[in-house]
Amino acid sequence: MSEIQTDAGRPQMPPFDHQPRAYAGPSYDEALRLRQQHLTPSLVTYYKKPVMIVEGAMQYLYDETGRRYLDGFAGIVTVSVGHCHPEVTRTAIEQFQTLQHTTTIYLHPNVGEYAEALTAKMPGDLKVCYFVNSGSEANDLALMMARLYTGNFDVIGLRNAYHGGSTSTIGLTGEATWKYNTASGFGIHHARNPDPYRGPWGWDDESVGERYAEEVADLIATATPGRIAGFFAETIQGVGGAVVYPEDYLKRTYRVVRAAGGVCIADEVQTGFGRTGSKFWGFENYDVVPDIVTMAKGIGNGFPMAAVVTTPEIAQTLSARLHFNTFGGNPIASAIGKTVLEVIDREGVQENAARVGARLMDGFRTLKDKHDLIGDVRGKGLMLGIELVKDRDSKAPAKEECAQVHETAKDLGVLVGKGGLHGNVLRIKPPMCLTLEDADFMVEVLDRAFAAV
Ligand code: PMP
Repeated sequence: MSEIQTDAGRPQMPPFDHQPRAYAGPSYDEALRLRQQHLTPSLVTYYKKPVMIVEGAMQYLYDETGRRYLDGFAGIVTVSVGHCHPEVTRTAIEQFQTLQHTTTIYLHPNVGEYAEALTAKMPGDLKVCYFVNSGSEANDLALMMARLYTGNFDVIGLRNAYHGGSTSTIGLTGEATWKYNTASGFGIHHARNPDPYRGPWGWDDESVGERYAEEVADLIATATPGRIAGFFAETIQGVGGAVVYPEDYLKRTYRVVRAAGGVCIADEVQTGFGRTGSKFWGFENYDVVPDIVTMAKGIGNGFPMAAVVTTPEIAQTLSARLHFNTFGGNPIASAIGKTVLEVIDREGVQENAARVGARLMDGFRTLKDKHDLIGDVRGKGLMLGIELVKDRDSKAPAKEECAQVHETAKDLGVLVGKGGLHGNVLRIKPPMCLTLEDADFMVEVLDRAFAAV
């Protein structure tokens, strides 16, 4: 097994008691060939030479040679409590052996028990679930519900947002990178992004939240009939590069939206399930209660499942017709979802996200003091971003340098994400079982990687 080299100068990955299995599947070259020949060319891979991952254990991943990596991206913010977490795995296997599938046309206790556990985590009147299979589907449904409930059509989203890749959520998404030249987004208007680093009003402006909320009011008054169906926002932008809004922005904007007849939709696909450390849901950090919450990714620790949670009154709108989702809320997904919630509580996963996230943030701030390439470090808990700029005054995005740091970190054993509209933000969103030792190792590796640019 070729563990990361142990030469004296290299940062040392914390020890971990797990022996990966000897990999016996198709070779690296064969896996690459299969992909190139038979998968859509629209798929991209990270790194000059893509990494092949064949095994995972908690916060670590293994390639086909048995080399271990620290996972700083959790399969795009999806593995919440740890790769192959033993309890989640046990639950899945037990349910697989008992009953794999029925739909909601029959009674099964799992879906109801799960809905009860999930809504127990929700404030106010957010007590009704609709289970689906992906974040895009959840947002599609939320969009339709908002329109049906309010009787209005126009919807406000944010520039730099990501809400999915389906026909309707491409319209909600606010980044050219992800928008095809097709008819999408009819009735959707994108407000100025409340990004205090890149936007016209920064953190030093006392009324920054108010100014961005006024932009939403202006958009409603000028681009819509004055009455809207709703407002969509992630509670920290994920794909857009860990953008955190001014503290009072959502509170003020929700007020504006509700005054115009709209409902407020929080996309918690990345930020939910304790990831922000301080709160279970991202929206709670802004002291607001949405009318509809969408969630996916971390909800199933990697199992494909998602949900829309809303009030009984809003949920009632779908009863006007039949609406059906074949796999949504199936016995396996429901059992896994419930176990994930139990593990989060029992293992103090949210508290760990707060503790380890704070350690990472301290480390990143130190890196910012050392490396001029870093323009901004931001985020909450284990939802963090480091934005790279060629020059701190012009804030010109340092995309190539970001790719270099990303590559070197991988060479040193740490996988992180990258993103942002300009591809110049390192995204650090590991499984939430990351330890303080892992955090220190990651900071050391990034320090090396920045120094090497
Ligand atoms: N919302 C957000 C905030 C996301 O990050 C994503 C996925 N990156 C989605 C929605 C769409 O989720 P999915 O890929 O499961 O459709």
